Amino acid sequence: MRRIVFATGNQGKLKEVREILSGLDVEVVSMKDAGYDIPIDENGTSFAENALIKARAVAGVSHEMTMADDSGLVVDALGGEPGIYSARYMGENTSYHIKNQNIIDRLRGVSEEKRTARFVCAIACVFPDGCELTSEAAFEGSIGHEERGENGFGYDPIFYLPERGCYSAELDPEEKNAISHRGKALRLMREKLQTLESEGKL
Ligand code: IMP
Repeated sequence: MRRIVFATGNQGKLKEVREILSGLDVEVVSMKDAGYDIPIDENGTSFAENALIKARAVAGVSHEMTMADDSGLVVDALGGEPGIYSARYMGENTSYHIKNQNIIDRLRGVSEEKRTARFVCAIACVFPDGCELTSEAAFEGSIGHEERGENGFGYDPIFYLPERGCYSAELDPEEKNAISHRGKALRLMREKLQTLESEGKL
């Protein structure tokens, strides 16, 4: 069985990755569990670039198959903000309650049809021979007028899903994985890895 080092310290993310990649002949370990804890400067200009920067940095020391993701919230009425700066928006240590309230305040007076937003996730996989794969997917919704729901994390309490009539933070984890940006991008990556596996290249 081959090992994939995933460039995250987030156990929740790791659990989701393991669930979605189960079925492939791979074991997924976090970079910390694999013994690689290096600082990474995420200075890319897109989600895909940042995912590649993280995966390349860890692959550079691990010399193993390495995967990373980068994600964020893109709000159309804010010209795409917070985008790749989603985690750093208003400061890394600012609570999401404050960040969420700030986004609601900035959208005060914006009509329903202009409140569209999406979560985007890019996944990058770097192989020891330098070969690289990427996948990207979006989760469409809009910005609500208040925070709702107790599940999820980050911006989930203000992310409204018009087709479901609920907020992302009101979905249970399985429901969210089935439709989320990260779930979709990971499944696209799994398909690419499955193709390599069937060709005996994994
Ligand atoms: P990173 O990809 O771990 O760097 O996280 C990017 C940031 O985007 C997170 O810290 C959250 O602020 C936001 N984000 C990404 N995905 C989600 C999601 O599924 N729900 C809520 N916020 C998210």
